[in-house]
Amino acid sequence: MELKLSLDDFFPRSVITTPFGWDTKTFPTRPRLHHAVDRAGSGIVHTPVEAESSQWIDDDAEGCSVLRLFFPGGEFRMLHFIRGELESAVLSAALVKAPIPAGTPIGPTGNHGLSVPLNGGTGRHVHYCLILEPGVYDDKLKILAGAGWNNDHMSDYRSQYGKAFIADTAARGVRWMNEFIVARADPYYDGKLRFVVNTTKLWNV
Ligand SMILES: [Zn+2]
Repeated sequence: MELKLSLDDFFPRSVITTPFGWDTKTFPTRPRLHHAVDRAGSGIVHTPVEAESSQWIDDDAEGCSVLRLFFPGGEFRMLHFIRGELESAVLSAALVKAPIPAGTPIGPTGNHGLSVPLNGGTGRHVHYCLILEPGVYDDKLKILAGAGWNNDHMSDYRSQYGKAFIADTAARGVRWMNEFIVARADPYYDGKLRFVVNTTKLWNV
């Protein structure tokens, strides 16, 4: 299956405020695995995939808003938009799980949830991640990341990051991970294994 991403206009005039990976800065007393990217900026976020269906969630288990864009074998998930700031076409579609075309303006980034100004961020940010069903795009991942995309570096990270890493990844059901992918039991899929992809590593976004 072809993995189609429209990332050029995803979020103009934005900068990364929290990168993908082990994060000790956002919550200094509670380091955690940030298996997403945070970006902040003045532009409007656009849908980066052709969504065959979608979903808006006002508050997830951690009190964050979630916009989910589904395509065959995967999902692009974004947190922290403010419902009242969404383009009405996106909100009305996502409320009824309707399709949303790629490149559709979503709105400015929200701060519904914790927003932390770091590395030049404004404090308002979007948290986004590309989530793939194992097996569907493995050939594509191998082309982008090389033969080592499915290497497991968990034991290296355990010794590098220590107890907090071990506890956090256990809580999240992380099975294996490396610089490209976190393979975890995703609670949004009844705990089934999903690949959370580091888009900055594979697409520079
Ligand atoms: Zn984030």
